[in-house]
Amino acid sequence: MIIAKNIRKTFNNTPVLKGIDLHIKKGEIVAIVGPSGAGKTTLLQILSTLDKPDEIKESELRINSISPIELNDKKISEFRNEHIGFVFQFHQLLPEFTAIENVCIPAYIGNKKAEATKQRALELLDFLGIKNKAESKPNQLSGGEQQRVAVARALINQPAIVFADEPSGNLDTESAANLHDLFFELRDKFDQTFVIVTHNEKLANMADRKLTMRDGYLLNE
Ligand code: ADP
Ligand code: ADP
Repeated sequence: MIIAKNIRKTFNNTPVLKGIDLHIKKGEIVAIVGPSGAGKTTLLQILSTLDKPDEIKESELRINSISPIELNDKKISEFRNEHIGFVFQFHQLLPEFTAIENVCIPAYIGNKKAEATKQRALELLDFLGIKNKAESKPNQLSGGEQQRVAVARALINQPAIVFADEPSGNLDTESAANLHDLFFELRDKFDQTFVIVTHNEKLANMADRKLTMRDGYLLNE
């Protein structure tokens, strides 16, 4: 599903990723942990095609057999919209739209049919336990509910891979635990792959694999 070989990233002459090798299988839930500044977010950005690694001949990145580094920007964004879902700590819901409208946006960008999309969005919200909030605006929802809407939005196009950067970072303990359970339920139901940067020890220990980053290296791949 994801193959990374010798991934390097340098910002302003400072190496931040110093040669990352990584294999992630379909349906795996992988947690990436490590101290602040270790390069976790940078790695996630590159794996999720939001950023590109340094150009090095000996490097390789494949996602679903595609090499995103070789695609132009338009093709990359199409690829991303079709194959990849994102969940961030700050979920950036659009305040003037309802929960269900927020969920549907990535599907409309991908020109999916409106009625089928709405049906799927309702199913997702139902699965996430917030179907009754479908018509609420973000400011009428709790933090945990907003994060669930963001998760539904990340899943609306049925991406093969979901990347999450501190998804439970601003949630209370119970909402965080619920969100984590959801990732596992979704994986079991849809065989989706999850790559999650987290400081949450419980989540890291529940994951199929816990990878530790330090100073630009992966310690245990
Ligand atoms: P982590 O997620 O483990 O906290 P990051 O990947 O966010 O680590 O950052 C790793 C290092 O790279 C930090 O020193 C950070 O300041 C630097 N860095 C990250 N993004 C940029 C950027 N866009 N420009 C310059 N430096 C960056
Ligand atoms: P961290 O605290 O680990 O640096 P942040 O929450 O600041 O994590 O964001 C992680 C990275 O994800 C940032 O580099 C940011 O630019 C990017 N990011 C956050 N939200 C989005 C989004 N909606 N779309 C694209 N990139 C995003």
